[in-house]
Amino acid sequence: MASNKTLDDLFYEELKDMYYAERQILKALPKMARGAESEEARKAFEKHREQTEGHVERLQKVFEMMGKRARAKTCEAMDGIIDEGEEIMDAFKGTPALDAGLIASAQAVEHYEIARYGTLKRWAQVLGMQEAAKLLDQTLSEEIETDQLLTKIADQSANRHAQAA
Ligand code: FE
Ligand code: FE
Repeated sequence: MASNKTLDDLFYEELKDMYYAERQILKALPKMARGAESEEARKAFEKHREQTEGHVERLQKVFEMMGKRARAKTCEAMDGIIDEGEEIMDAFKGTPALDAGLIASAQAVEHYEIARYGTLKRWAQVLGMQEAAKLLDQTLSEEIETDQLLTKIADQSANRHAQAA
């Protein structure tokens, strides 16, 4: 068993995990946008789908900076989060609670991403990859903004709409 694995190995492994996760998210977001009842939620999902294309591209750049080919490694966690989101979408289709459920699912995705990018950015810094750290931080900021926007939509409309009907 290799006893010489170090932070750069960890960094590469987690990068592959995120590369997989972002590409799954890219496929899931249009379904969520189509499913959303409210204009606001739909727009938020569409906007984040566009941002997610940028997240995939930034990861490709980071792989390049490492001199490695962009590779994806199945992320069971993201598959699970997305599966649960699809279950909610099926179970609550046509109900007033749908958007509250969609937003909750999307926030679980964002929180996973925030955890991962927070780590990846710090590892890049320690590894002396300042350019990579900057790219990862840009994505992290967009994930945080998206999470905050979703909280706002939940508070201002989706949760009340889900309850009132
Ligand atoms: Fe992302
Ligand atoms: Fe995201």
